[in-house]
Amino acid sequence: SQQRRILIAGNWKMNGSLKANSELIDGLKKAELGASSPEVLVCVPTAYLAQANDLLKSTKIELGAQDVSAHQAGAYTGEVSSTMLSDFACQYVIVGHSERRAYHHESNELVAQKALQSLRANIFPIVCVGETLEQREAGKTSDVVVSQLRAVMDVLDDGALARIVVAYEPVWAIGTGKTATPDMAQEVHAVLRATLAERSEFAAARVRILYGGSMKPENAKDLLSMPDIDGGLIGGASLKASDFLAIVAAA
Ligand code: PEP
Repeated sequence: SQQRRILIAGNWKMNGSLKANSELIDGLKKAELGASSPEVLVCVPTAYLAQANDLLKSTKIELGAQDVSAHQAGAYTGEVSSTMLSDFACQYVIVGHSERRAYHHESNELVAQKALQSLRANIFPIVCVGETLEQREAGKTSDVVVSQLRAVMDVLDDGALARIVVAYEPVWAIGTGKTATPDMAQEVHAVLRATLAERSEFAAARVRILYGGSMKPENAKDLLSMPDIDGGLIGGASLKASDFLAIVAAA
């Protein structure tokens, strides 16, 4: 990960309020971020993009969204397009989070279209991949994550591919307090990077692969010191400024 800048991304999920967000961002402003610091990002609920954009303006903390439409514009009631996200200075958007794959039946192909749409608006997609416990126990982890990644690779040219971020998030580790060991995570990250390299060595060297799943201040350092782990996607621990900043400090 020496050649890739570490990215620490918070995923607030469906949490927050005007008041709570303002307190949380106040807490995050205590971070002293310099040139050698990791890149720090918060992915907030769509409803609060305008508020977060305002509050983060004077900081080095970047803004992201948690989902985006696969369509450009038109009769898609309730959807939010990538150009709308870029109106609020979103630099990143999470696509294919396991909660969306599970509760909204998002297919690999839909996730790929979302990644494509975000890149069209110059927003970097954070493409989430990960296996369930059942898939891991059946020895299918590599097959699952590789096909999730390949679906996205299939719709992108080499230049676009180099601009994505991948997040390996084992489903059994999300919100459960169970974390993949650094070795378990590294093994999957290496498989993902090798998959990128089959298409483009340039992209493989450039694309950051984040780990997500119960990352917290106590386990962040060991995970982030693995060669192919280039950052973290953090759910629960991103809702408390002191925990999130401790992870940033560990990176
Ligand atoms: C996530 O949902 O992206 C996540 C990693 O959640 P948590 O950190 O709470 O496991």
